[in-house]
Amino acid sequence: MRVTNWLIVGLLTLLMAACGTTEKQKGEKLTIITTTGMIEDAVKNITGELADVEGLMGPGVDPHLYKATPSDLQKLRGADIVFYNGLHLEGSMTDVLEKFARKKAVFPLSDGLDEKKLRTPEDGSTVHDPHIWFDVELWSQAVSYAAEKIAAQDPDNATVYKTNAEKYLQQLHELNNWTRTQIQSIPSQSRVLITAHDAFGYFGSAYDIEVKGLQGISTVAEFGLKDISGLVNFIVSHKIKAVFVETSVPHKSLEAVVSGCHEKQHNISIGGTLYSDAMGALGSEAGTYIGMVKSNVNTIVSALK
Ligand SMILES: [Zn+2]
Repeated sequence: MRVTNWLIVGLLTLLMAACGTTEKQKGEKLTIITTTGMIEDAVKNITGELADVEGLMGPGVDPHLYKATPSDLQKLRGADIVFYNGLHLEGSMTDVLEKFARKKAVFPLSDGLDEKKLRTPEDGSTVHDPHIWFDVELWSQAVSYAAEKIAAQDPDNATVYKTNAEKYLQQLHELNNWTRTQIQSIPSQSRVLITAHDAFGYFGSAYDIEVKGLQGISTVAEFGLKDISGLVNFIVSHKIKAVFVETSVPHKSLEAVVSGCHEKQHNISIGGTLYSDAMGALGSEAGTYIGMVKSNVNTIVSALK
C-alpha cells in the first residue's frame, strides 16, 4: 500500500471515530430514545423542537413481552439520552437497557419516584407494580425527573425545558382532578374495574375504584382455568355489568370469563377497550398520554355508571 493510501485509511478511521461519539456541538439537537409511547409523549412535551425523540414500542405493543430488534440496538447506540419505565415493565429488554446504562445517560423513570409510593401486588410477590403512569400525580413526578435529566444533559436550554415541563405538569394536574371527579360519579357498588391483566392498580388506589385483573402485573405468566373461575364467581356475586379488554393484550382471555358468566345466567358485556400498556395510534384521540387516560376514563364511566 502506498503512503497516500495509508493516509486515506488513517483519515477515514479518524472520521469514523468522530461519528461514533455522542458529544453535542452547540446548537445540535439531542437524540432521545424511549421505550413506551407514554414516555415518548412526556419527553416530547418537555423538549418541544429541541430534540429528536423516538419511542421504540408503538401502539398495541406489549412492553412485558417486547424484545429489542437489531434496529432498536442501533438507535440506542446513537442516543444521547435513553428513558425507560423500569420496575421490570420492559421484561426481557431490561438487561439490554442496564448494559447501555454503564456507558451512557440511560434512566428508568421509576428512579424519580418515592419508593413508598410504589405498589406491591397482593399476590405476595416482592417486585413493584410497574404501571406507574395510571396514577397521574405519580406520573407527574416521573415527568419532572425526566425534565431534570434532560436539562442536565443540555444545560444551554435548561430554561426552555423547565418552562415546557411546568406547562405540561399543569395539564397533568387538571387531568388528575378531572379523572377523580369522573370516577367518583360511578355509584360505589359498581365501581369495580375488571381487565385482562393487572395494569390498573395505581389507577384503582388513586381514584378509588376496585381493580381486578385475570393475569397478574405482567402478561408473561399464563393464566389458568382456576383464575377464570375465580373471576367468574367474583363477577356473579358482585353483579358486575362489564369487563374491559386491553389493546396490548389478546382478547380471548376475557372472552372466556364472559362466557363463564353467561353459563351462570349472569349477563355481562365487554364494556370497551382500554389502553393499558400502550397508547393509541398517533393522531388518534388516545395517541397522547392525556388522550389515552381520558379515553379510558370515558369508556369506564359509560360502561359502569
Ligand atoms: Zn402491564
